[in-house]
Order: sequence, then C-alpha cells, then structure tokens
Amino acid sequence: MNFRTIIEPFKIKSVEPISVTTEDQRTHFLEEAFYNPFKLKSEHVLIDLLTDSGTSAMSSKQWSAMLDGDEAYAGSKSWLRMESEIKDLTGFEHILPTHQGRAGERILYGYLGGKGKVFISNTHFDTTRANIEFSGAEAIDIPIEESQHPLLYHPFKGDMDFLKLEQLIKERGAENIGAVILTVTNNSGGGQPVSMHNAERVSEICKQHNVLFILDCCRIAENAYYIQHREAGFENVSYREIAQKMFALSDGCVMSAKKDGLVNMGGFLALKDQALSDACTNLLIITEGFVTYGGLSGRDMEAMAVGLREVFDPDYLRYRIRSTEYLGEKLFKMGVPLIWPIGGHAVYIDAKSLYSHIPVDQYPGQALVCELYLKGGIRSVEIGSVMFGKYDDNGKLIPAPNKLVRLAIPRRVYTQSHIEYVIEVFEKILEKRIQQED
Ligand SMILES: *Cc1c(COP(=O)(O)O)cnc(C)c1O
Repeated sequence: MNFRTIIEPFKIKSVEPISVTTEDQRTHFLEEAFYNPFKLKSEHVLIDLLTDSGTSAMSSKQWSAMLDGDEAYAGSKSWLRMESEIKDLTGFEHILPTHQGRAGERILYGYLGGKGKVFISNTHFDTTRANIEFSGAEAIDIPIEESQHPLLYHPFKGDMDFLKLEQLIKERGAENIGAVILTVTNNSGGGQPVSMHNAERVSEICKQHNVLFILDCCRIAENAYYIQHREAGFENVSYREIAQKMFALSDGCVMSAKKDGLVNMGGFLALKDQALSDACTNLLIITEGFVTYGGLSGRDMEAMAVGLREVFDPDYLRYRIRSTEYLGEKLFKMGVPLIWPIGGHAVYIDAKSLYSHIPVDQYPGQALVCELYLKGGIRSVEIGSVMFGKYDDNGKLIPAPNKLVRLAIPRRVYTQSHIEYVIEVFEKILEKRIQQED
C-alpha cells in the first residue's frame, strides 16, 4: 500500500535537545559571527542544514558495535570486520582506511597527480579539485549540458559528457590523464545522480585508452536508489547490487564515510591494482597511521562496517530520498526557485531569482542564508560568490556562475515536523519579500 506520509523508519531511543532562541538573540549571534554561518556556535542553531557530512545519527546497532571496538595498533578485529565489509561491497582487493574522504584524495591524487597531469570528472568536489591542483595537476569538469539548466528535468543530471571525455583524452594524450573521476551522486552539481549507462560508457572509454577510472562514491547508496527507480532494467535489482555493479566498472574508489557510511568520521580508499595500492599504502603510513587503522579508532571502524550495510536498507533509502524531495517539492510549489529535480542529500535554492532585487555584488545567496537564520534559526550555506567569487585588480567582484543556497539534510536526524517548520519559515520569508516588492 502507498501512504502519503513518509514516516521515519526508526523510533527514537536517545534525544539531543536543540536550543530555541528568539529573533533578537539571533540578530546578536549573527552580528557576532560576522554574518558567517560557519562562525555561529552550533548551540545557537535550531535546525542545522549546513551539511550532511558527518552529521548522521547512528543506529543502536552502530553504537553497540562501537563498544566492541578493538583498539589494537595492528591486526585489530574491528579493522578486519570493516575491511571485509568494504571488500564485499566494492569487490576491490586492496582497502586503505583514512580518517575522512579528503585524506584518501590527497594520497591517491597526490601520487597520480603532479605538473602536466590532467584529471577529468563530471564535477570535482571542492576538496578533490584542491588536492589535484595542489599537486600541480589540472582538474577539468565535464558535466552533461543538461546540468547547466537549473529547471530542466533530466533523470540523471549528474552524468558525464562522454563525448567530451573521449575528445579530451585524445587532445591531452592518455598518458597525461591522472584519472577519470565519476562523482556519485554529483555533489557540486546539486546532488544529481549518475546513470549506470553513463558509468558503463565512461568505463569503456577509460579501458579503451588505458586510463584509470575512479569512483568518488560518497553517496553511492543514494545514487543506487535513483538507478532502481529511474533507469530501465534495474527495477528488480537491489540497491546494494546496483552499487556493486557500478564499483565493478571502475578501478577503485575514494569514499567519505561521513555521507553514506552513516558515521560521523571516517573514509577509505579501495583499489584494484596491487602496485598502485602499495604506493598509496606507503603514503598512508606517513600521515594517516598504520595500514590497519589509518587515522581511525577501532570503534570508528565498527560503526562504519555497520553503517555501510544499513545505508542500503530499502526502507531507509526510500525515506531518505523521499523526505529530501518532500522539502524541495513543497518549496517549489510555494514559488521558491530551485534546482530541479531535487537531489538526494540537499535542496539547492536559486537565490538570484528569489532575490532578484539584490544585485549580485550584494550577495543574494548570503542574504537568504542570514534571513533563514534570523527568522527561523536555520543554518544553511551559500554556494555562490561568497564561496567561489573572485576579485579583479580594482577589487571588483568577478561573480561565481551560480548563486545558490544549499539546505543539506543530515541523515536520520530531523523528523517531518522539523521539515514542516523549515517550510513555514520559508512562507514567512516569501511574505516579507512580497511586502518589500509592493
Ligand atoms: C565530502 C566529499 C568529499 C570529501 O570528504 P571529506 O570526508 O569531507 O574529507 C569528497 N567528495 C565528495 C563528493 C564529497 O561529498
């Protein structure tokens, strides 16, 4: 039976109070934070939609596994448990634990990169690009054309433009390509999914040119949900099998377990090739730790082993994707302009069209971020010229292409009434905007 209400497929065993503040107090807190949400104290935030990274609520199974954490320096049974879970999921032979995603990126892309190397992605996430560029290499994004139109519906707006991929490999020379990186879902592109068909084409092209193909798989479970529901031929394939199929197309992956690992800290590198894994292992030991913990405590590895299995639970995934969609659809119906369709982990609002009366050099996105906090204690993040803008020699803003505000939804943290509250805050903001325009 299909019910209209998306209930949380869990009940609450432990609660964390959140602080209710007044608008006057928040005006003061925001001033003190220099209008920068990253400088706010989290205790002054009512609903925290800054990021979905590391903010998940863990299950009672994860917490109980943590007590069983084995903190041995070498050969910890928690490591063996996590390693076998990751091997089973990814199919890769070589697993390297890291304290979070970017540590894996620094190791892998630091090793593969360097001056003259080129990395190609649907869209490099910020830390991915930073690690590649820091090595002296170049990072090129080639999302499909459809991704550039916020309101256009496309079932897999996270796809890579594989014709451009082929062209770029020919232009730059296969020997100069550090790796091709498919980010699933495409975080910087609005949390949009990548189809299996696209991953297959990318894989074929990489094989043909003998280029390394890496998955940035932070949200591979959310991506699998979309494939089962939107791509022909996958209706009866389980989410986990879909993810496994995608891993099988690649040569390795980098994961921030702070997303679909359902943990607050952790990550890993998983690789097919022995020689590449050996080189990365040497780098791992320098900064992360010994090969059987890599910056993680035994209890962290226990939590990740359980989280990586729980995230593929069909009831959880349905609730996860549908509840993010619910917020987006409600806002859209109210007339809030946003990236369409709604992505898996966040709703992206087009602040430039919402606040069309605010000039770009007065940061419409940041204005909305501040307004959400003042009116409702909601913390969000600007993804526009405050984050990515540059200044010319005269100090004039060179605006970023997008003026977005992201509402990222932590996993299993907020209930439907929290989300209804967020919607109500938007109603008040829209009312105020209409009054101002009159
Ligand atoms: C979060 C994220 C990373 C980096 O992971 P951290 O755990 O934050 O270091 C890399 N790629 C993508 C797509 C991400 O979302």
